Amino acid sequence: MGSKETPYKVTLTEEEMPKAWYNIQPDLPNQLPPPLSPMTKEPAGPEDFIPLFPMELIKQEMSPERFIEIPEEVREVYRLYRPSPLHRAYRLEKELDTPARIFYKDESVSMAGSHKPNTAIAQAYYNKQEGVKRICTETGAGQWGSALALGCKFFGIELQVYMVKVSYEQKPYRRAMMEVWGADVFASPTDMTESGRAVLAEDPECPGSLGIAISEAVEMALKRDDTKYSLGSVLNHVCMHQTVIGLEAKAQMEKVDAYPDVVIGCVGGGSNFAGVSFPFMMDKLAGKSDVRCIAVEPTSCPTLTKGKYEYDYGDEAGLAPIVMMYTLGHKFVPSAIHAGGLRYHGDSPLVSALVHEGYVEAVAYPQTQVFEAAMTFARTEGMIIAPETSHALKCAIDEALKCKESGESRDILFNLSGHGLLDLKGYEEYMAGNLQD
Ligand SMILES: *Cc1c(COP(=O)(O)O)cnc(C)c1O
Repeated sequence: MGSKETPYKVTLTEEEMPKAWYNIQPDLPNQLPPPLSPMTKEPAGPEDFIPLFPMELIKQEMSPERFIEIPEEVREVYRLYRPSPLHRAYRLEKELDTPARIFYKDESVSMAGSHKPNTAIAQAYYNKQEGVKRICTETGAGQWGSALALGCKFFGIELQVYMVKVSYEQKPYRRAMMEVWGADVFASPTDMTESGRAVLAEDPECPGSLGIAISEAVEMALKRDDTKYSLGSVLNHVCMHQTVIGLEAKAQMEKVDAYPDVVIGCVGGGSNFAGVSFPFMMDKLAGKSDVRCIAVEPTSCPTLTKGKYEYDYGDEAGLAPIVMMYTLGHKFVPSAIHAGGLRYHGDSPLVSALVHEGYVEAVAYPQTQVFEAAMTFARTEGMIIAPETSHALKCAIDEALKCKESGESRDILFNLSGHGLLDLKGYEEYMAGNLQD
């Protein structure tokens, strides 16, 4: 912990932007249990992933290298919004009357408004390198679809997006963003795929889920040789691309002689949490730091806090590889909370393993408490943040209030994963007192 005063914002120059992503796999205390093929239920080799992903991403998924270079073409696009600023939340600290210092890394500054372009740009680049013409993907609240639409536009690839129906209806402007960047968007479940038709036959009113939308996108990708699939979270290579967040944050905190006692991120599939925390977890796994890393999820989709650690399918129809993770079961359909990006039945195998082995803590909060925190943030720091992000904020506030009780000063870092300017309906409902947990 350094001296009390720091600037409001710590920035890095473009030259100081990380030149490699951090791959946590070689540093894990135990090797990850291997993914299984959905067909044979045997450990999956690279050949099982070839229909879905370009080879370079398959290599990254299983790589033993600790650092993987960020290609110059990707860094060139990153420069449009990176390095992102690290803020000190002075006005929030004052409101809470806490001795803690609260820092947040602002990933809302990307063109899509969240951390997701960090991997979308990289994935579009590697697909382009390997001659892929079209990508199919799913999206929950629309952040992933819009990030990938942006990435595909920059690298000249067609994009089809299966968007969870409840979000398609709640967030029409996200769909417009994807279309501005040239993607085709469908409300999932659709009647275009076998998986979608099977779900609709059972429940024509089904609000959809990420699991169902993934099945549709995977099915469509498997139909054509020039088409691949892309996932915006969960997988090891996605978590790795997001480490640019934590690597920058670490350099920024070093500049002001700070090091976090606690690192916090919200968890949908785990990628922004992994991104902000793994570069610090690296020190913890090496015995050089006792930083606490806290993963935060909604009580209505309590994967890490109430799920089972076991092998499960990544998607509803069972087409995607089977992975060892915390899961609520691949048939789980969560309620229609506003944090659409956190409605996933499973979690990253990397984050799951670290929770299982006690390196990462997990907590869950109900939606109303999360919006209350978001209102406090908007009224102190000014920013209207995403409902997903507000989960991390709520935890940061609770940690800061614990410091107030104990009188200890701690450095708290949370990842501000996205802005909430397209989530104002949720804020409106909260203010009208109509929000359910
Ligand atoms: C998608 C999203 C999340 C959740 O996804 P992770 O892969 O767990 O990071 C969180 N916050 C925002 C703003 C998102 O768009």
